[in-house]
Amino acid sequence: ACLDRIAEVDGTIHAFLHINAEGAIAEAAASDARRLRGELLSPLDGVPIAVKDVLTTIGQPTTCGSKILEGWIPPYDATVVRKLREGGLPILGKTNMDEFAMGSSTEHSAYGPTANPWDITRIPGGSGGGSAAAVAAFEAPLALGTDTGGSIRQPGAVTGTVGVKPTYGAISRYGLVAMANSLDQVGPVTRTVLDSALLQDLVGGHDPLDSTSLPEALPSLADAARLGAAGDLSGLKVGVIKELGGEGWQPGVITRFDESLELLKAAGAEVVEVSCPSFVHALAAYYLVMPCEASSNLAKFDAMRYGLRVTPSGDPSAEDVMRASRDAGFGDEVKRRIILGTYALSSGYYDAYYASAQKVRTLIQRDFDAAFAQVDVLVSPTAPTTAWKLGEKLDDPLAMYKGDLATIPANLAGVPGISLPAGLADEDGLPVGFQILAPARADDRLYRVGAALE
Ligand code: GLN
Repeated sequence: ACLDRIAEVDGTIHAFLHINAEGAIAEAAASDARRLRGELLSPLDGVPIAVKDVLTTIGQPTTCGSKILEGWIPPYDATVVRKLREGGLPILGKTNMDEFAMGSSTEHSAYGPTANPWDITRIPGGSGGGSAAAVAAFEAPLALGTDTGGSIRQPGAVTGTVGVKPTYGAISRYGLVAMANSLDQVGPVTRTVLDSALLQDLVGGHDPLDSTSLPEALPSLADAARLGAAGDLSGLKVGVIKELGGEGWQPGVITRFDESLELLKAAGAEVVEVSCPSFVHALAAYYLVMPCEASSNLAKFDAMRYGLRVTPSGDPSAEDVMRASRDAGFGDEVKRRIILGTYALSSGYYDAYYASAQKVRTLIQRDFDAAFAQVDVLVSPTAPTTAWKLGEKLDDPLAMYKGDLATIPANLAGVPGISLPAGLADEDGLPVGFQILAPARADDRLYRVGAALE
């Protein structure tokens, strides 16, 4: 049914870069056989899933939305992909994304944009717009994304899907082509909170191949979602982040946000306002830390080991080949960030930029600590606006970056966050996202509160 749906709508939506039709059918048949024998491998055995094209997959291309990796078929599976296979989930294919996960609209994909299923003239968010659109368009019931500054939660918000960025280290990053190692996290994109919980339960846990993965397992997230579904939040203290909202935020987003606060109160939660003063600097700190790490990570695409190789005519040196290949293989946004990161890391500027950004990061972590000493969870709208028109912000990188205002603090501090559908904005009828943040390792709170609101 998913493959039929993909055949029907993906010509318009373009959520997929690669469709694994034969493989998925074979995996589904194997799952059917297990079901008959009563030998299911996991609660999600047989449920098809779409995978963001930044996670390596044996036998399927992994492009990261870039020309520089066109045609590359990895010889190894990301740990999360291995766990999907071990859990019996048929993999439908690889989803579209901004090149190397840099963007908030999926327009920076080298393979063309993805359309928002709610209005195909609008962006599906980014960088994981393909995963979110695939779920929103009923092409896949589940998807995996990655979130470095909001790339799961913001696409979730603008497509009316559930998106989770787990605690940093809760899910292995092995086989995730790194954008910014200290910020990247893999996470679920689904239609319900329980689906996300089941998926994080399946793919999470310690991995000896990722030294930053948490040593201990989190408590069952599916249990937390089931507990929350009863709708009782009495005793829960919720903090509304003062700095995320108000002036400059779309009125329809704020209206739906305020309604969600009323739902929390009706479920018995106490709602208070909390100030996180350093959050106003989060965007600036992120757009230094992230390009610094990215510029270093992308140095490995040198046309020597794998990927695109462009050989200029004449008698080119190795450096000429590298320059020509990187020039042809990387898009403008990637080049912009490589230049920014290389500049900020260069001797003489390191202290002024990178070191300062790291200090701001510490201040943001302290704001979270102080806030979580007062409340159990923090909430905000996921994004300041609903989905904008394709092309609208393409020439204005700063306007695009501002869409990440509410999602970035969680990545800088390593805490988990979820975006839930909160209804449609009055002025444009487009989905609005409600974000919940919890302390590190308390991912269960996201699922409990999220399921109570559903
Ligand atoms: N939109 C943000 C950026 O462009 C987030 C990216 C991400 O989370 N991968 O960097």
